Amino acid sequence: MKLQEFTSSAHNFEECMKCTVCAAYCPVVQVNPRYPGPKQAGPDGERLRLKDPIFFDEALKYCLNCKRCEVACPSGVNVADIIQEARMKYGKSKPRLRDRILASTDVMGPLAVPFAPVVNFATGLGVTKAVLHATMGIDRHRTFPKYSSRTFEAWFRRNALKEQRKYDNRVAFFHGCYVNYNYPALGKDFVKIMNAIGYGVELLDKEQCCGVAMISNGMYDGAVKHARNNVSALSKAVDKGLKILTTSSTCTFTMRDEYPSLLKVDNSAVRDSILLATRFIYEQVESGAVKLAFKDGYKARIAYHTPCHMEKLGWGVFSKAILARIPGVEFTALDSNCCGISGTYGFKKENYGVSQAIGKPLFDHIASVNPDFVACDCETCKWQIEMSTGYKVLNPISVLAEALDLEKTARINGF
Ligand code: SF4
Ligand code: SF4
Repeated sequence: MKLQEFTSSAHNFEECMKCTVCAAYCPVVQVNPRYPGPKQAGPDGERLRLKDPIFFDEALKYCLNCKRCEVACPSGVNVADIIQEARMKYGKSKPRLRDRILASTDVMGPLAVPFAPVVNFATGLGVTKAVLHATMGIDRHRTFPKYSSRTFEAWFRRNALKEQRKYDNRVAFFHGCYVNYNYPALGKDFVKIMNAIGYGVELLDKEQCCGVAMISNGMYDGAVKHARNNVSALSKAVDKGLKILTTSSTCTFTMRDEYPSLLKVDNSAVRDSILLATRFIYEQVESGAVKLAFKDGYKARIAYHTPCHMEKLGWGVFSKAILARIPGVEFTALDSNCCGISGTYGFKKENYGVSQAIGKPLFDHIASVNPDFVACDCETCKWQIEMSTGYKVLNPISVLAEALDLEKTARINGF
């Protein structure tokens, strides 16, 4: 596919009424004077770029693609898509080696997992960080996510696959790179909960990274390949009548909305079947199909952070409702703020200061609430919040797995 084929499809820039509401909600505008802002970079700039591509401004690279402008826009202008498509079409800068490494999560994962203790030790050393800062442009202040010594897929095949066959009801699980290579415990929690509410879990046939990091690092051809592969794998599950559940709001958003809007990959056969696990569980409980039994004496003060892509999905309500209803939980919904990491953006030394400045209101709010831990459906927000505040961050699925009496839940659901 040629890059030109990506561009200029459903632009609705003419619907902009120049209210500048989007600028008030853009986290970059607040801290980076070099960024022209969503209105100027999006609809205003698009009018000029269509006249002459010379009007393309390389400062569009500062956009996080967080979609907050789209959530705020009263006219429904797809501001962030317009900006991203302009970068795809007119951007001159090519991804650097650093960008390729940061974006290739499912290449780096299989390389790192067999040597996880060594890799984790080495990437935690100050000297390694200094070298990466000087040679690759990965900021020395960053904490790298740890790799697991065994992938989630390997654990699942060996420890869970056989057990899943006893369930008549099934769901497919898109685990994503983070669960597979970094944090299999989250995938295990997901399987435990699904089994307790009477669902067996299947993995997809040849899942690949959703491609979000490739999109943000300008590797569009690679992102399209991944999207096509995943739509094909997801289609096989949908053909079997399965819902596809995820534990990552960003993977969910990318596969549902970025595939067709940015990558022009038709996902219409699978889109509505891709759900965040918390939404699925919430709907099962609300419909009365499933009951949850909680441990006696569970207590936690939880502050929930809504990731930007979750804001765009509009699904934060499901995770919040599930957490807030756990007996013994003192729940706070944090103000809606970007954490500043935006996937790999905050790892780059030229973005580190902006990334931390964007996240500061969120970090301050967490400190003022002083919870036992933060809950969040996005792995990169987790890295950013843990590094910047010292508070532990858990996915709502892991919180639920800890709070539930799994045996009792299985029993009352007839399993
Ligand atoms: S919020 Fe929407 S309508 Fe208002 S300036 Fe931004 S893009 Fe235009
Ligand atoms: S996507 Fe985010 S960073 Fe980009 S213009 Fe919109 S609000 Fe600003």
